[in-house]
Amino acid sequence: MHSSEVAENLEAVRLRIAAACDRARRDPSEVKLVGVTKTVPADRIREAIEAGLEIIGENYIQEAKSKREQLAGLPVVWHFIGHLQSNKAKTALECSDWIETLHSEALAIELNRRAANAGRKIPVLIQVNIGEEDTKSGMGAASLPAFLKFCDALDCLDVRGLMALPPFFDQPERARPYFRRMRELLDTLKAGSPATRSLTELSMGMSGDFEVAIEEGATIVRVGTAIFGQRRRAGESVNR
Ligand SMILES: *Cc1c(COP(=O)(O)O)cnc(C)c1O
Repeated sequence: MHSSEVAENLEAVRLRIAAACDRARRDPSEVKLVGVTKTVPADRIREAIEAGLEIIGENYIQEAKSKREQLAGLPVVWHFIGHLQSNKAKTALECSDWIETLHSEALAIELNRRAANAGRKIPVLIQVNIGEEDTKSGMGAASLPAFLKFCDALDCLDVRGLMALPPFFDQPERARPYFRRMRELLDTLKAGSPATRSLTELSMGMSGDFEVAIEEGATIVRVGTAIFGQRRRAGESVNR
């Protein structure tokens, strides 16, 4: 892909976000754009940052670490959005400002411990397996109230909301019921206890369906292909 295409694509995505917000009568400032950069080289990411991208999403720890070093000092926030194992919590914290994929008590304990050691409080989202798919990680919706209570006792975790990767469909409209269910889940949790009032973020929607996600209440969309073009790595699956 030619370099200026990244800036053009970014602008096109921003316009589509604005149009979706318009349809949903939402303020575009309520929707954060995460540029998903798995397999994208650091120089292309730099172009996107220079064109105004403010948040990067990485899936793989080693890749995130190396790019964060290469892009050190640039004004950008790093979200970790890949599957995270507890034994990688320390490195994940070193290369991330937010962790979007908290999915178990073991990981919560480990992230909290490592964040405490580093003198940090880390913003996290709880990944919800909204499609109840065996191939995806994430908490079941029914476990969320107890899990939130559990996390509330962990001082260095700052739980900001929920994240989901619904089943993949060719037609974005088919993902809409899952996005809607996520929004309802968040609303129910917020109504449930004062401790959950700070839950405001809903990370959902990718290149194929971010407009539908915004219409259903997404506050964070994670967009890779529509900004950076097709990824080179064949046969990859998301979130692995
Ligand atoms: C790869 C990935 C995305 C972005 O997917 P695109 O279809 O390229 O926009 C978003 N979220 C997660 C968790 C991913 O792994």
